[in-house]
Amino acid sequence: MSSQQSTVSPSELITEEEFRAQALAFLEANAEPRPPEKVEWGVGSDSVELFADKTPEQELEDLEVSRTWRAKLYDGGFGWITGPVAYGGRGLPGSYQSIFNSLESNFKTPSQGPFGIGLGMVAPTIAAHATEDVKHKYLKSMYRGDIVGCQLFSEPSSGSDLASLQTKAERDGDEWVINGQKVWTSGAQFSDIGEIICRTDPSLPKHKGLTGFVVNMKAPGVEVRPLRQMTGGTSFNEVFFNNVKIPDDHRLGDVNGGWTVALTTLMNERAAIGGSGAGIIGVNKTFELLMQLGEFYKDDPIARQQVANLYIHMKTAHFTSMRAMAKIKAGQLPGPEMSLGKLSLTNNLQKIGEFVSHVLGPKLVADTGEWGTYSWASLLLGTPGIRVAGGTDEVMKNIIGERVLGLPKEPKANN
Ligand SMILES: Cc1cc2nc3c(=O)[nH]c(=O)nc-3n(C[C@H](O)[C@H](O)[C@H](O)COP(=O)(O)OP(=O)(O)OC[C@H]3O[C@@H](n4cnc5c(N)ncnc54)[C@H](O)[C@@H]3O)c2cc1C
Repeated sequence: MSSQQSTVSPSELITEEEFRAQALAFLEANAEPRPPEKVEWGVGSDSVELFADKTPEQELEDLEVSRTWRAKLYDGGFGWITGPVAYGGRGLPGSYQSIFNSLESNFKTPSQGPFGIGLGMVAPTIAAHATEDVKHKYLKSMYRGDIVGCQLFSEPSSGSDLASLQTKAERDGDEWVINGQKVWTSGAQFSDIGEIICRTDPSLPKHKGLTGFVVNMKAPGVEVRPLRQMTGGTSFNEVFFNNVKIPDDHRLGDVNGGWTVALTTLMNERAAIGGSGAGIIGVNKTFELLMQLGEFYKDDPIARQQVANLYIHMKTAHFTSMRAMAKIKAGQLPGPEMSLGKLSLTNNLQKIGEFVSHVLGPKLVADTGEWGTYSWASLLLGTPGIRVAGGTDEVMKNIIGERVLGLPKEPKANN
């Protein structure tokens, strides 16, 4: 874990114009310009996959590439633009991050996917709830890419009903001892730390007996077992905790205050999914490819009508996500737009899958080598995962029913 000093003083006062010039100079010196994307039938990659089908070795190689870029970004002063100066951020407003993102999109830079959960959900929770020592110990290293974080919430019997989780943390002097099992932990296989929510007082109502911690994923007693997905890769894991020790200063928030900690993470998760919801599958590329599938359905008026319908729904979902993101950028809490955006995204994915199945038939099942045909199978097989991750379709419908339509609250079986 190396950690160099940023070459740009975080406290430096800089105008947006100066920042823009500095960011452009950095990108020009460190990355190649990205040529405008032109989707042309039969040219380049035909991938529309939602989950990458990579071997563990490829995952590690890609992680190293992402890490090298993240370190370069951080050392150049662009790795944590909005973070508090005291913890290694640059202390600049969100508008500076938007300037950087927009400039960066014109350059070919490595995917930052492996850092999505750590930086999108775990780091903001550490910043909000951890002790000063823990903030100093981890935040800068996370933003520099020296360490990776994962989210240890779901358990075999607790997903949507997260507050029913059973992994135990018992106090032993200045430490806590963790026993239990988590599941569906994305990226646990290469994570250095995890945010874990445990039950610390089973005698209290379920939301009130939970506590959050930062756990060292390399500690004795932590066992990570990969789960193979139907899309081929193994990006999720089961994680077993067998007498794993966590120092009390790695606690997040108050003892039995873990529900508030979990909500901070879930808010950020919705914001992250909502943000990517606009581009989780490039609306333009996917639609272009659907259009270019035209050879297969040009004489079918029903199919042509379905494509037009899909286009309208994809655009509407895109604008709903943008509305939600605009709220977040303005410092407001993500509202039900996030649930609407996510639900429309998954509905559209489902409709795209049904449409291509209708149009391509057996070409989706067997790979004939024909460009732009079998590749749609990975979208079809990845859609159920997106429908579940970050709140299932049914949970989104409950939120919309209660918060948008004003329907009565769902009865709770237990509290
Ligand atoms: C791609 C992906 C990545 C993930 N990454 C992580 C991760 O990194 N860390 C982590 O902790 N977890 C992760 N998860 C797990 C995810 O949070 C859970 O799968 C999700 O919360 C649903 O929980 P469950 O799988 O236990 O399903 P359940 O909650 O058991 O749901 C089963 C079915 O019941 C329905 N249902 C449940 N409650 C209600 C209700 N109140 N009303 C109506 N219907 C209901 C659901 O919609 C679903 O159809 C990931 C999942 C996926 C798919």
